[in-house]
Amino acid sequence: MRLILQPSFLFLLCFLFLAATPTDSRQPAFRVLTFYTDRGEPDHIAFANQALSFVANFAQREHFVFTSTTNWEDMDAEKLKGVRLVVWLNDFPKTQQQRDNFQRYMENGGRWLGFHVSAYNDADTRWPWFLAFLGGGVFYANNWPPLPAKLIVDDPSHPVTRRLSASLDSPANEWYLWKPSPRLNKDVKVLLTLAPENYPIGLKDTLTGGDLPVVWTNTRYRMLYINMGHGDKIFSSAQQNRLFADAMSWIARTK
Ligand code: ZN
Repeated sequence: MRLILQPSFLFLLCFLFLAATPTDSRQPAFRVLTFYTDRGEPDHIAFANQALSFVANFAQREHFVFTSTTNWEDMDAEKLKGVRLVVWLNDFPKTQQQRDNFQRYMENGGRWLGFHVSAYNDADTRWPWFLAFLGGGVFYANNWPPLPAKLIVDDPSHPVTRRLSASLDSPANEWYLWKPSPRLNKDVKVLLTLAPENYPIGLKDTLTGGDLPVVWTNTRYRMLYINMGHGDKIFSSAQQNRLFADAMSWIARTK
């Protein structure tokens, strides 16, 4: 049989060749999908609005495709397909379907970065998988009003904390105490902790002591939790912004 190369066939060959060849070395490295709510606690919305700009700038610099949504129904298999990293800024899924979809995403290689109230859970949350995912800490107490605090780096060799000094002056935040402390979970690696010298912290509601991990990862998953996220001062520290950038970078790229 003779193969006759029709012009249209040649065109198709060229097209297939070009389609298979990466022509732009700056093509997006991966996709980040950010969930948040624009309702409820104004200080959490203020944080989310600033965080959206921060993540969008970071994404542009690092060539991520960045999308954000306030629709938690987007927590479904179709929308999560191809998403490298899911970020929760100030809320968490409420329906069983959304929760199941997130669990499936995480158990199949997904990545999660959560801030502040995203990890909030108490007796009414009724999501045991999420509690285990976080390392087992139930929300116990917080300081009020939001106050700055000194944080201690637990592991200076970790990619998330490597560019920080041994301690960090963190801008005003509402600090959450968890019971039991996630540190007691052998799978949890704590990266930053509220320095004991901050105690007592608060005026109306005062934390008087206790182990208060601020940034940690449950090594059974590709996840990182960051307690900062209350009010409009969170991005006012260059050093803390470096922490956020390195946290995103690490969680998005960790094997
Ligand atoms: Zn808060």
